[in-house]
Amino acid sequence: MNKPLDPATIGQPEPPKEPRRHQRTATGYLPEKTEDGKEVWPRGQESVWKSGLRAVETEETSITKSIVHHVQTTIARQAYNIDEEGAYRAIAYSVRDNLIVNWNDTQMLYTRKAPKRAYYLSLEFLMGRTLDNALLNLGLKEDYQKAARKLGFEDFEELVESERDAALGNGGLGRLAACYIDSGATCELPLWGYGLRYHYGMFWQQISTDGSQVEAPDPWLNHANPWEVHRPDVSYLVRFYGHAERIGDSKAIWSGGQEVMAVAYDVPIPGSYTRNTNNLRLWDAKPKRGFDLNSFNAGDYEKAVESSNSAEALTRVLYPNDNHMVGKELRLKQQYFWTAASLADITRRFKQLGEPFSKFHEYVAIQLNDTHPTIAVPELMRIFVDEEDIPWDQAWEITQKVFGYTNHTVLPEALEKWPVPLFQHLLPRHLQIIFDLNHSFLQAVEKKWPNDRDRLTRMSLIQEGFPQYIRMAYLAVIGSHKVNGVAELHSELVRTTIMKDFVDFYGPSKFGNVTNGITPRRWLDQCNPGLSSLITETLGGDKTKWLKDLSKLEGLLSHIDDPAFQKKWADVKLQNKQRFAQFIEQTMGVKLNTSALFDVQVKRLHEYKRQSLNILGVIHRYLTIKSLNAEERAKVVPRVVLFGGKAAPGYYMAKLVIRLINNVAKVINADPDLQGILTVLFVPDYSVSVAELLIPASDISEHISTAGTEASGTSNMKFCFEDLRYNHQYHPTSLEERSPALAVVCKVIAEGRFGDGSIYEPFLNTIRTGDYYLVSDDFDSYLEAQKMVDTAYQDKVSWVKKSITTTAKMGKFSSDRAIMNYAEEYWNIEPVKLN
Ligand SMILES: *Cc1c(COP(=O)(O)O)cnc(C)c1O
Repeated sequence: MNKPLDPATIGQPEPPKEPRRHQRTATGYLPEKTEDGKEVWPRGQESVWKSGLRAVETEETSITKSIVHHVQTTIARQAYNIDEEGAYRAIAYSVRDNLIVNWNDTQMLYTRKAPKRAYYLSLEFLMGRTLDNALLNLGLKEDYQKAARKLGFEDFEELVESERDAALGNGGLGRLAACYIDSGATCELPLWGYGLRYHYGMFWQQISTDGSQVEAPDPWLNHANPWEVHRPDVSYLVRFYGHAERIGDSKAIWSGGQEVMAVAYDVPIPGSYTRNTNNLRLWDAKPKRGFDLNSFNAGDYEKAVESSNSAEALTRVLYPNDNHMVGKELRLKQQYFWTAASLADITRRFKQLGEPFSKFHEYVAIQLNDTHPTIAVPELMRIFVDEEDIPWDQAWEITQKVFGYTNHTVLPEALEKWPVPLFQHLLPRHLQIIFDLNHSFLQAVEKKWPNDRDRLTRMSLIQEGFPQYIRMAYLAVIGSHKVNGVAELHSELVRTTIMKDFVDFYGPSKFGNVTNGITPRRWLDQCNPGLSSLITETLGGDKTKWLKDLSKLEGLLSHIDDPAFQKKWADVKLQNKQRFAQFIEQTMGVKLNTSALFDVQVKRLHEYKRQSLNILGVIHRYLTIKSLNAEERAKVVPRVVLFGGKAAPGYYMAKLVIRLINNVAKVINADPDLQGILTVLFVPDYSVSVAELLIPASDISEHISTAGTEASGTSNMKFCFEDLRYNHQYHPTSLEERSPALAVVCKVIAEGRFGDGSIYEPFLNTIRTGDYYLVSDDFDSYLEAQKMVDTAYQDKVSWVKKSITTTAKMGKFSSDRAIMNYAEEYWNIEPVKLN
């Protein structure tokens, strides 16, 4: 049969002739040099070019000019038709000009100096808003505020708040990546992030009238995004499916299947009070060339757009599961697409150095944020062996030196495993490589412990069964030179439980710890300007002194007994509570008593995080207050209990808890006996921006997960408060015996006090029988702890002192410390400062 003419090539430009993976047309950033070492200006008149290559100066007039310029050209409006949203965008573009100039200079410097670089591969970057953070890092906030006022925009905060969050993450893991990328730039490290440009981020959470969570899409790119730079010149083809044919012992040719184009979008990441500006490169999926003209010409429009749809579906949406593995093919495709594009980009950059691949690990360190990018291990092997002709053993040695793996959880349901048949179908060459790696790994295990079949079964990368599964965490461990957990306790659990056999095999030095951190720029200076000024005023000097060395906060301790300082500290808290109360009144129509104790639990909804324990405790409090007479009630410490957090759309029990919280809130808030004494609220659509408003307003925060289940937690650091932790044992007794108080609370729910009790039966049953997350074990001691909080809150002076002490001692939890820890002990990279 004659091969049909390929209509895709008719009337289309010739496909590029470069090698498949290296289509980037732009060259590096280095100017050419003459023989005597002088730089040759590449085109036109140097002085003319250089006159444009400057950031917006810090004078108001030039800032004003730059904003007006963007109003008139970039967004094509004028003074007569510019609104808040337009003003925000023009300001954003003007700020972006500064970032891009710094970004270019930083990248040029990195290219020129060619230091070892580190790459942080994370499927999630929960960035939140950018404008305020960029202005503070550049030290230009006040100038822009003045400029905006001159242009008729009095309320600068309103402009700042009109920005949509970039919510490309679920929770802690994605927010951690965002903090690390901020710290990398601030510490002037040559560190890039690689992620995916999801068109829809974390869903928008609404609450229906019956109290349930309703999910709506988050089309955050509907308005143009000023904070990214589209780079159509940086693109790579990524293959899926097809077949892999072995040629020789270790090499193979992978061909056929589907090819999808990965296109780069660059997000400049400014450091704080430094010109160093790093890069977050996000990949978007595009069909290889337009759509399938073959079908298009044949009049089959549906089929023609199908392939382009399936390509673009790759980066359509973030999977909304936190600490839970969902084995969808599209998710695995996302993982490979992002990993393959990132490695193609990293190896292209390495090749520009002109160094041999035997030195790859001297220039490249790659950190795997959880197991999501683990496919990078066989992918780098494939590049080395199949494309670069490096012998297998040498390729494996280099690969192991390049990667580091961060484990984020020991929860069994969160550990990634993929069915072998799915891999065979989607990534046939990678499956071959994994089997080959497993073979030699198990041989080494067998050599160390002969005839120990149990051990081989336990340690194999392949879990036996029908079907077989690939254990991604084990693959990440054998492919990395270092493995770390994210807090002392968690790292110890990693060493003694899920990775015990691997510690025995490799020795303990491969398994370390890097305690998570948070950026003090966003979580203190930006979201709590009152406290930031008070700290600066108290410590003396300018704020960069402590903002870039958070251990300096200890200096607050020498002022702790000063009543004037205590009063200022308490005033800041009150103002933050008022700011939050105003937001709640505007958005939810509820008035909050700002002299009440604000008790906050905000984080993803999860059984292990035990929002259940909290709401059951609230019901107990409600029942207790109801049983008091008026005189006794007047003595109760008033509380506002605030919840916030999203449940994965498919997580039935978590959604049921949200419904219970909302219906308990409805009953309590409507009860005149509780007015001003107890208010309960579920704040919808918890996000980075809501966190920035809520956290500074809290008096206590709740981190009450079942012991051993929360790897690190980072919001505990944001609140600067100790979390409450208990030890407990399993008691196979009835609920009435374990906790009579809790039994009463459950009875009240079942009887219908908060709406039809039968709705909550599945939830109540998880506590009555089994109680996997030990809510009943901890209920009584939880109530005791809450009583202690009430008592402590009444002594205002000692409460303020506790609050000061907590802040003063949180220096260790700066993400600057964490990132320097990675740089020195895991990546072996050094700061490269831009002057
Ligand atoms: C910090 C943060 C988290 C993580 O909270 P944990 O209490 O550590 O689970 C989740 N979501 C958002 C928006 C955050 O800012």
